[in-house]
Amino acid sequence: MNWVKDYVTTIADYPKPGIMFRDVTTIFESDVAYNRMVEEFVRHLRDKKIDKVAGIEARGFILGGAIAHRLGIGFITVRKAGKLPRETHSVNYMLEYGEDALEVHCDAIRKGDNILIVDDLIATGGTAIATHELITMAGGRVTDCVFIIDLPDLGGADKLRAKGCDVFSLTAYEGE
Ligand code: AMP
Repeated sequence: MNWVKDYVTTIADYPKPGIMFRDVTTIFESDVAYNRMVEEFVRHLRDKKIDKVAGIEARGFILGGAIAHRLGIGFITVRKAGKLPRETHSVNYMLEYGEDALEVHCDAIRKGDNILIVDDLIATGGTAIATHELITMAGGRVTDCVFIIDLPDLGGADKLRAKGCDVFSLTAYEGE
């Protein structure tokens, strides 16, 4: 959807030289764009059998919380290491620009729950694949993943599809 690009701000060489940073906070700041974006996701998701939304810290919370609310289902926080107070599963992963760990509460998911992963952008897929691993460790089944932006040439969305997930993005930037 091309209207989305009108609200994305691109910052060259942030946070490192060579990275074109796609800043979606300018979507969140707009009442028109934020609501329209959530409704586009809801239209795609409403007939699916999803039990819970798993949002990835931090922009995945802003988007995933709104989607969960509109679908009338619960929300699971996927957080950076050391932020969750109860027993967690933990997975290390590579970013487009660095390395990190993600965690989820062990008891956040019921066995067999259908889970939707939500984040702002998919690039190499390291973050989303680590989240897929966490959900699987916790007993859930990742059926769907949604992102505002796909960078298809980095291959992350195809990695998720190879794991059997339906992947949906509002827009894509080719070549980076
Ligand atoms: P990846 O794990 O490579 O798929 O990277 C996705 C994660 O890193 C998401 O949580 C994004 O917020 C962030 N990210 C990666 N590349 C970019 C980019 N070019 N612009 C904005 N955020 C990015």
